[in-house]
Amino acid sequence: MAQSSGTLFVVATPIGHREDISARALETLRKVDVIAAEDTRNSGPLMHHYGIHTPLVPLHEHNERSITASLIQKMESGLSVALISDAGTPAISDPGAILVDSALTHGLRVVPVPGPSALTALLSVSGFSARQFLFYGFLPIKAGARSRALEALKGLQATLVLYEAPHRIQDCLAALAQVLGGERRVVIGRELTKLFETVHRTTLAEALLWVDADPNHQRGEFVLAVEGATQPAETDPARHDALLLALLEKLSLGDAVRIATQATGAGRKLLYERALKLTQG
Ligand code: SAM
Repeated sequence: MAQSSGTLFVVATPIGHREDISARALETLRKVDVIAAEDTRNSGPLMHHYGIHTPLVPLHEHNERSITASLIQKMESGLSVALISDAGTPAISDPGAILVDSALTHGLRVVPVPGPSALTALLSVSGFSARQFLFYGFLPIKAGARSRALEALKGLQATLVLYEAPHRIQDCLAALAQVLGGERRVVIGRELTKLFETVHRTTLAEALLWVDADPNHQRGEFVLAVEGATQPAETDPARHDALLLALLEKLSLGDAVRIATQATGAGRKLLYERALKLTQG
């Protein structure tokens, strides 16, 4: 691994199947001085399986700020660090952004070692257009906030990708059907790359019945892809604001305006000015 000193490698690990790890990821994990892992107990078996003996330090959402300072010091002294999460790509609905941001701010080299993510794994088998998609991650837990978030996304013409916990999958699908309409198509990805992998494409109206019909359909890890709206959303300025606010929670101003423009059919300049106003106050 050339010129690794003082470098942060952001390394994707499997989302289930142990063999879904690149040769470059394994080489990187072997050669760095330290691996920052979301949960060292979870990553231990993977490291053991591949005979990787690099020291692990925990980096999770509760200690990311404090551990970042010491990892930056290590890299500034010439050591190399790899960041991994429990599964998939670090910083995608996982810790990592604080460390990466700090490394970049300190002028350190940050190198992606790409690989699996539940998001791209499902999109690739959804059959829905992924020319444009919105990755929302986890919807709000509370019913009211979840419905409001979905109302704002209702007119989005891009494919919507969501993560959901097994104990909330029924509530999530019910809310999706209620707000987006039962005829909209959805792909349910369950336990991707694992023994009980299931990819089920259906309508939102049928999805809840499918999950309810079999307790096994309620277990494991879930990622959902919902087909984009076919009709442009209404042009009511209040709804533009609601959509922009929801998008701005997760996206940069430019990306939020781009997606809102597509979703509403409204002028880009108009939405840009609205988005600026919303961010300023
Ligand atoms: N960083 C990860 C990635 O790149 O996909 C995501 C981490 S997020 C905390 C974990 C969520 O991802 C799970 O609750 C589930 O929604 C989704 N997920 C992870 N692995 C999965 C799998 N094998 N099958 C389906 N969904 C999965």
